[in-house]
Amino acid sequence: MSDKLKPCPFCGKKNIIIETWSSGGPMYMVKCNNPDCPVPAVGYPTGSNLIEVEEEWNRRAENGKSKM
Ligand SMILES: [Zn+2]
Repeated sequence: MSDKLKPCPFCGKKNIIIETWSSGGPMYMVKCNNPDCPVPAVGYPTGSNLIEVEEEWNRRAENGKSKM
């Protein structure tokens, strides 16, 4: 289901979930579901376009990796 999402750039775990809720339309947030993982200062990728939110997550995952 979420195989296309890269592992968390902070903890390296693959426990990634997509939260959905409604706010004048469907909203999505890709987040790490590891309770020990710190929430990034900039927050998790959020938006009304699931594809874009997933792509942003993967972009951050790539960036996080290159910094390590
Ligand atoms: Zn994490």
